[in-house]
Order: sequence, then C-alpha cells, then structure tokens
Amino acid sequence: MTERIKKAGRHISQNEGLIFEQSAPGKRGVEFPPLDVPAIDARTALGAAYAREGVAGFPEVSEIEVMRHFTRLSTWNYAIDLGMYPLGSCTMKYNPRVNEFVARLDGIATEHPYQPQELSQGCLKILKLLLECLAEITGMDTGTLEPAAGAQGELTGLLLIRAYLEDTQGRPRKKVLIPDSAHGTNPATAVIAGYEVENVPSDERGQIDIARLKQIVNSDVAGMMVTNPSTLGVFEQNIAEAAEVLHAHGALLYMDGANMNALAGVARPGDFGVDVMHLNLHKTFSTPHGGGGPGAGPVMVKKILEPYLPIPVLEEKDGRLALDNQKRKSIGRVRAFGGNFGVLVRALAYTLAYGPGIRQATEDAVLNANYIRKKLEDVYDMPFNSPSMHEVVFSDARQKKNGVSTMDIAKRLIDYGFHPYTTAFPLIVPGAMMIEPTESESRQECDLFVDAMRAIAEEAAKNPELVKTAPHHTRVSRLDETAAARKPVLRWKPKVHGS
Ligand SMILES: *Cc1c(COP(=O)(O)O)cnc(C)c1O
Repeated sequence: MTERIKKAGRHISQNEGLIFEQSAPGKRGVEFPPLDVPAIDARTALGAAYAREGVAGFPEVSEIEVMRHFTRLSTWNYAIDLGMYPLGSCTMKYNPRVNEFVARLDGIATEHPYQPQELSQGCLKILKLLLECLAEITGMDTGTLEPAAGAQGELTGLLLIRAYLEDTQGRPRKKVLIPDSAHGTNPATAVIAGYEVENVPSDERGQIDIARLKQIVNSDVAGMMVTNPSTLGVFEQNIAEAAEVLHAHGALLYMDGANMNALAGVARPGDFGVDVMHLNLHKTFSTPHGGGGPGAGPVMVKKILEPYLPIPVLEEKDGRLALDNQKRKSIGRVRAFGGNFGVLVRALAYTLAYGPGIRQATEDAVLNANYIRKKLEDVYDMPFNSPSMHEVVFSDARQKKNGVSTMDIAKRLIDYGFHPYTTAFPLIVPGAMMIEPTESESRQECDLFVDAMRAIAEEAAKNPELVKTAPHHTRVSRLDETAAARKPVLRWKPKVHGS
C-alpha cells in the first residue's frame, strides 16, 4: 500500500461478518411491554399449519447492530460518487447533480405519456431540442431517441439500413463487414438483424486494412459497422476512405458511436462519411448507467435513411409539436413512448450545461487517458502504439512472465480502493487491460490510480502470489463469476444442522 493511498483513506476494508455471525442469544431489536390482554395461541387463531414457533438460525441482534451493519454494507457498492471507475469502454463518468435537479422538476417528472399532445408541448420540445443538439454534435441530419441502449441502437440502425436497401435496391443484401477491433455487440447485432458477418482484419497499427476492405466489398455487402474510436481507444484514420469504398458499392457505413466522448466537439461523423450511428447517452452524455438500465442509445442518420426511422416521429406543424405514427416506410416502433424520457432530459441538461464547452470535456477525457498512459507505459506492455484517445489499452504481457494476469491485477486494484479496469477486452489484445478515466477525474485522482497500478506492477515482480490471490481486504475473495450471474443465491436459508 502506498503512503499516498493510505493518506487518502482509499484502502478501505470490506471485511465484515454476516449478520448471522453477529448474533448472540437473547438480543432483541424491540422489547414489548408485559401483556395486558389475554394471550391468544397462534395455533388456535391461525391454524397449526400457519403458525410457527420461531425461525431456525434467525440472527439475534439489537436494532442498532442491524442499522450499522446494513448502513455499512450500503456504502460498499463501488460508485462513481466514491471514486474513479476506470472501466474502459463503459465511460463511467460523473452524473452531474444539475441533471438530476432538472429531471425532477414538476412538469417534467410528473408528466404522463398518455397526456394529450397539446398538453405535452414542453416535453416534446425537450425531445426536439435534444435531437437537434445531437444532430449538431454528430454532423448527422436527424435521428430517433427511442432505443433504450447502445445495443438496441445498433439493431435499430441495421434495421434502417435493411429497410433502405430493400426499398431502393429491392433486396437487403447479405453481409455486414465488421473489423476485428469492433465492440462485441456489433457482430451480435448484425446476426440478429439477419446478416452474415464477415471480419475485416486490422493492420499492425490497429487500423482498418483498406486494401483488404477493397478486396472483400461487393454487391452482397449491406454495410460495415465500425466502432470509432475503436475498442483499442484509437481513432480510425481510414474511416473517410472506408466510407468511399462502401458507397461506391452501394453499401452504407454504420458507426458505433458509443465512444463519442472522444470526438464530441472535435470531429463529426457526418463529416467523414458515416450514414448512420448510435450514441450512448449513458456514456458520453453523463446519464446514469443504472443497474442494466434504463439507458438511451439514440440513432442519428443522414437524410437518405429518414423515411425509415421508428415511429412515432416528432414533427412540427404550425408551431405545434406532434408525434406522427403514420409513416408508411418506418421500421415500426422500437420502444414504448418514444424512449426513456427521464434519461433524455438528463442528457439535454448535460449538453446545454456544456454548450460548445463539450469540446473541453472531450479534450480532458483524452488528456486523462494519455496522462495515465505516460505514467504507466514503462511498467505495463503497450500492444498498439497508435495515439490514445479517451481510453488506453495495456496488456499483461510483462506480468504474465511471473504468472500474473490482467484479472489478478484487476482484483488487486480492489485492495487499493479502486474499481477494476476492463479485463480481457478488446479481444484482439491478449490479456488486455483497458483503462478509461473520463474527463471527470482530477489529476490527484489519476495520480492515486497510477500509484496503485505501479505498486501492483512492483508486487507482480517481487511477490506475484500476493497479486494472484487478491483481493485480500474483502470478505470473500474470488467467486465463481459465472455461477454468481447464472445461479445467484438470493434467499437466506437456515443452516441445516451439521452442514
Ligand atoms: C457500451 C458499448 C456498446 C453497448 O452499449 P449498451 O448501452 O451497453 O448496449 C456498444 N458499442 C460500444 C463501442 C460500447 O462501448
């Protein structure tokens, strides 16, 4: 443990017994006064089948013990409000409280989606303004705010490409090209949208190989999905050229813009040939990720795809806003009530709070990632040397020689009081360690993280066992993560004697 981390109090212990272990016979939370009415036997009153004498193994604790135990546990959930959350690709940035304030205003929080449209003009205006801001930031013409996540945005985008090709060329075509540096959701989306996936290899700099692309693309290709910046945290230098190659063959370019936080205010996908893209408001635009939702993955498009956008489409007639459900060529509805409204409000609050200053947020995010890169590149292996954008990808190649993997280092970070970075992703980097500080972090916080990472690198060299058996400060160490997700134990059951 480094002195600086100790001083910051970050190495908090998360090692507390279960409430069952704090139990002592006879302790009670509440004491009732002596009975001053006749006692009724529960078996008589309820029937023997429904009455029980007690609960075997139930903990006996006082009220304040219960209070303190659960209050302490409630602070153990690592959160961006407690410290840096360096999960690469996830963009765990701070959710400004002004967003929460705006989303809770009367007239926004209390609106009902079935309210007549004449009485919802303010809310519809919020949606319209957000769509306009996103069009400005991305350089696209228009879009839809409906999709509830990045992945759903991808599916919506590919369904738009499908509808466009069917409408204009009479067939949806067969294949979607995906570079090997793409996010994992991209190939999954293409398959669900009914396409075959063909891989486009990256060159030695981690960029799309244009020569290969030219060989592969033909009239069976519906389009290409490009994660930009790629999952290597690297800008696709060849993207405009890739767009030209695709367009020459009647195919479209989809950009996975989940990482738009590296471009906002600096470069616009609409200007470099992108036809359709999604954004992750719960990444770039600072809305909460939530426990699996609700998020928002708006899809932005060029004019050619507008006729196919999901219904309802927001339209302005005689100064009034209305939702149009009658679009003949629309792919249909992808989400109830035009999307996760509360999230959209927060994203608009963030966008307007920054205004053109969103460029500063982008530059700070890129600066932070490169600061961490510079401070760590002498101790961790750097698989691709292209300039980093909003995130930096190392590999565990050096530590692997001592048997220490990216997973071990991530687990050891927990002892230092940090949430782990993203492990083992992107797939084209064996033993990847993907770090994204975001613009939220101060230099002090980045320094603490660097301290922790450097201390762990030293431990991995001198005492690899310590890292391989981490975390040491938590109640339980390594869990079967698959079983924890697939077969979670969510209910307490009394211990059967002898087990
Ligand atoms: C996060 C992410 C996604 C998926 O977004 P969800 O909202 O989790 O569905 C897709 N692509 C990239 C590049 C991402 O970082």
